[in-house]
Amino acid sequence: MALYADVIIDTGVRDLDRVFQYRIPEDLEGKIGRGTRVRVPFGAGNRMSDAFVTDISDKAGIAEERIKDIESSYGAPDADGKLIELAGWIRNEYSCTLSQALSLVLPVKKKVREIMKYTYVLEDREKAEHLLEELSRDRRRAGAARFLSALLSQGTVPEESLKAVIGVTAASVRKLTETGAVARTASRQYRDPQIFRLSPHAEAELNDEQSRAADDIWENAGRVRENWNTHDAVHLLYGITGSGKTEVYIELIRKTLAEGRKAIVLIPEISLTPQTVSRFYERFGELIAVTHSRLSAGERYDQYMKARSGEASIMIGPRSAVFAPFDNIGLIIIDEEHDGAYKSEKTPKYHAAEIAAERARKGGALLVLGSATPSLRSYSRASKGEYSLHVLRKRARESSVLPQVSIADMRAELAAGNRSIFSRELYSAIEQNLEHHEQTMLFLNRRGYAGFVSCRSCGEVIKCPHCEVSLTSHRGGRLKCHYCGYEAAMPEKCPSCGSPYIGRFGIGTEKVEDLVRKTFPSARVLRMDRDTTSAKDSAGKIVSAFASGKADILIGTQMIVKGHDFENVTLVGILAADTTLFSGDYMSTERTFQLLTQAAGRAGRGAKPGKVVIQTYKPDHYCIRTAAEQDFPSFYDKEIKFRSLMGYPPAGHMLLFLLEGADEEKVKSAAEQAASAIRYFQNEGSAAGTDLLGPSPAAITKLKDLYRYVLYVKCLDEGHLRLVRDSVENELKNKEYMKNIYLNSDIDPLTIV
Ligand code: ADP
Ligand code: ZN
Ligand code: ZN
Repeated sequence: MALYADVIIDTGVRDLDRVFQYRIPEDLEGKIGRGTRVRVPFGAGNRMSDAFVTDISDKAGIAEERIKDIESSYGAPDADGKLIELAGWIRNEYSCTLSQALSLVLPVKKKVREIMKYTYVLEDREKAEHLLEELSRDRRRAGAARFLSALLSQGTVPEESLKAVIGVTAASVRKLTETGAVARTASRQYRDPQIFRLSPHAEAELNDEQSRAADDIWENAGRVRENWNTHDAVHLLYGITGSGKTEVYIELIRKTLAEGRKAIVLIPEISLTPQTVSRFYERFGELIAVTHSRLSAGERYDQYMKARSGEASIMIGPRSAVFAPFDNIGLIIIDEEHDGAYKSEKTPKYHAAEIAAERARKGGALLVLGSATPSLRSYSRASKGEYSLHVLRKRARESSVLPQVSIADMRAELAAGNRSIFSRELYSAIEQNLEHHEQTMLFLNRRGYAGFVSCRSCGEVIKCPHCEVSLTSHRGGRLKCHYCGYEAAMPEKCPSCGSPYIGRFGIGTEKVEDLVRKTFPSARVLRMDRDTTSAKDSAGKIVSAFASGKADILIGTQMIVKGHDFENVTLVGILAADTTLFSGDYMSTERTFQLLTQAAGRAGRGAKPGKVVIQTYKPDHYCIRTAAEQDFPSFYDKEIKFRSLMGYPPAGHMLLFLLEGADEEKVKSAAEQAASAIRYFQNEGSAAGTDLLGPSPAAITKLKDLYRYVLYVKCLDEGHLRLVRDSVENELKNKEYMKNIYLNSDIDPLTIV
């Protein structure tokens, strides 16, 4: 009996986003399942195309002779049916094609060569002893005899040690397996991605706060398994920096595994936080599979298979690890849940927490969101009682207390004649730290040498020819676009007026490094930003060099802020707190608060007390004040009022349409057409109660040679916005004015585009 497969062609084209039936040829029978990727002849020309198998059946849906054969399979494993269901949910939720959703939930396309490990084991001791006696009399078989006596004393001998250690060929040993005394066994070897591992701290018993949080969360596990509801299943763990959230996660994972269930742990960027990952390895060892963007194809495949086969019970990784191929998930943890990296910038623009909630709901699992600076989104849900809230108020290590924070008013510094990048307070604190051999971290959220380059005569700012953004000056006189990677040499004259007076303004981490070296010549300095961490594992090397005391000062961008636990750091300097504060975007205050609090939280985590200096031109801004006091609840109260007033998320919801195209006039008129479609839906009733803003040019009006226009639709009801999105997209589809225009949508974007 013939078998058929329903397939979805792997393309972003919406018109092809439906199932086509193909025959499974005999030689592929049993090798193709739901979720495997195949090549099929498609269309009138039978062009070979990639496709996903979504279902298998024994009935032909159309006339047998019209069904084509699948050409070949990529050989990757099949998938749990629930993941394919999840892809269907993603398509509706984020308005993408099913093939886009499938490539997300099924990240492994091809089978990669599997590495096997062979081991010799003792099968029959008596026989082996006899054999050894026999062999010992034959000098030509001394190697085999050495092997047998090693096996008799150790019980097992790995094949790879035969030549090097025992000095015998694999061929002569393999012959011994015919005697029945010895057997050769095979096991699957998983490529180890060698995540940078640091030696973690000693295991500690949970303190009262930690065990209360763990118990209160776990207490819901049984109930949620039977009868899932958001309040019992979704937990926000708000614990100040250093309060020991990781230990709470570990405790919950231990309980989950004890019930035979699986756990997923999301961390924002695995290569930046080797310490956190080390702690999980220390406790759970080989039960862990990891994933991240820098794995080789072989490592990625093996780690995926380790999870798929059930050999691993914990998947650790960034956003995409939420799609771990587990079928019996009991717990999903999202550490540093406020981090923007959890939202995808590509279609489908999903947030890992939303996918996690859906997987938890389907699997009857717990979802734990942890942070010292919760997102407004999660905290507002917790304060309304939608999520359960757990708070850790004190630092876990008894000797460790919150650092003393002071705010340096840079206007006053200037008035006092100090024109350096260091306030007097920070300067003397660094000096003192160097004297005491304690470590310092200096944070500036801008990489490169200077901020931008402009002409002192006419004011012209040098911009990227492909994007409407200023170029950033880097060392060696290079100018770079941080959006598209364009590079140019620093011009000698102003391209606009010809004046030779071209200056670099603002500072980046490269210049800070130069200034620190000049100001403190005895200090050993490291720098960590996107420019120094492009090589695989370079971030881990910088972190471990600093952790082991090989440098006095670590300078860096937000990379140095995330979750690190350096015991000897007693001073943190935030050089320019205002760089992110006024980026003109509704999330900028929240992001600044998170950065400042997290940066400050790196100080004084060990036995010695910490000090933080925040340099700013806005010392009275509530964001700076509350961050200095490490007072998230006060920040939240102020910020949520502002959001409510403006109808911004999470108080209201926002639907963004972004239209992009190479012809500015066409983009503009398409955006106007989209606006009239929205106004039509408002009048007709299906978009009633929504507000339309725009169309207007995006904040970055041109990016990678594409002009950009935006429209925002605001509404209190998120579900309603989803319907509006679908109607508008449907209305614009295939319209003449949409030709060569890319339309993107996003609900509650994390930045204003
Ligand atoms: P967070 O993730 O909340 O910032 P961590 O889990 O990294 O905090 O813990 C901070 C430090 O406190 C770590 O060095 C950790 O080993 C230590 N720690 C955690 N729990 C305890 C405990 N119960 N007793 C002693 N030390 C602890
Ligand atoms: Zn000029
Ligand atoms: Zn550019």
